[in-house]
Amino acid sequence: MAQEHGKQQRKIIHIDMDAFYASVEQRDFPEYRGKPLVVGGLPEGRGGVVATASYEARKFGVRSAMPSKQALKLCPHALFVRPRFAAYKEVSQKIREIFSRYTDLIEPLSLDEAYLDVTADKLNIGSAIEVAHQIKQAIKDELQLTASAGVSVNKFVAKIASDLKKPDGLTFIGPSSIEKFIENLPVDKFYGVGKVTADKMKKQGLFTGADLKALSKEDMVSRFGKAGGFYFDIVRGVDDRPVQPHRETKSVGAEDTFPYDLTTAEEMYAELEKIAKTVNERLLRYQLKGRTVTLKIKYSDFKQITRSQSFTEGDNDANFIADTAKRLLDATDLENSSVRLLGITLSNFYPPEIRTKTSSEQLDLFDQQI
Ligand SMILES: [Mg+2]
Repeated sequence: MAQEHGKQQRKIIHIDMDAFYASVEQRDFPEYRGKPLVVGGLPEGRGGVVATASYEARKFGVRSAMPSKQALKLCPHALFVRPRFAAYKEVSQKIREIFSRYTDLIEPLSLDEAYLDVTADKLNIGSAIEVAHQIKQAIKDELQLTASAGVSVNKFVAKIASDLKKPDGLTFIGPSSIEKFIENLPVDKFYGVGKVTADKMKKQGLFTGADLKALSKEDMVSRFGKAGGFYFDIVRGVDDRPVQPHRETKSVGAEDTFPYDLTTAEEMYAELEKIAKTVNERLLRYQLKGRTVTLKIKYSDFKQITRSQSFTEGDNDANFIADTAKRLLDATDLENSSVRLLGITLSNFYPPEIRTKTSSEQLDLFDQQI
């Protein structure tokens, strides 16, 4: 069961903005409203992917992470625009401010998604459903955007719930309905089950929560390793993971996929300098200095390598980062190589005590990599 004896039952809300990037674009540019809009890489480029599609575009089968070229095929009259991360980040901060009226236990998962623990909400509203309703309303009134909310006693169920009635949904899955709900859930929807694992499960005749529940813990572990133990709990509605307001930042980086392959050292140096500048800005924002510089190279055949160098002192200077990355690049086999992506990451931070930043900022880094 979801509740363990002697413990207060938690009230968890998962809020997920509806088609976030696309909705912000449609809000800010009336000419995009009611139209199939794709935010992400442009279809002319080679590496472009869809970050977010408006609901009008989704009707044609356009989905996040799909190559933009494919999106264009599915929806030839779609409008394609590049993301404006600064704008999304600003909206995200305003959403965060709305959350903080109700609780300080906010765990952002990305710019547009967060878990809230409202077991003891600041306004003594008491009902998590009412809190979720008020948050949705505030987002609508103040930001002219819609969000979907899932309300339950743990993160796993709350997250699935928020996805059930999109857009503008509010779904409550209470303790008494969790078990039945999970039994009917397709294995793909389970937290931590990716596509590979889901396929493996289906091959073994496991299609729903009920199928998984029929297996013993030993059986689960022997089939799926360590994760099997986690699935065993999850399928019983047990998920004690706390809502974590702060997560440690372990690395800060940036990368870029190029519209065409780079073949000369000069081109690569120039790109590394740009990337180093971005990394430098982010490190400054985090007040971090890294002792390890890691260069990532993806070649045109998608083969990927990383090369690192560590120093005794931390640094965040753009020239230092660029120079180190260039040296690491020089040490690779540059002859005849054609490169589609370069990335630089700094880690092993010093001083180690300054490194509490929210996970949203970490994901922000990832967001910008499309
Ligand atoms: Mg979303």
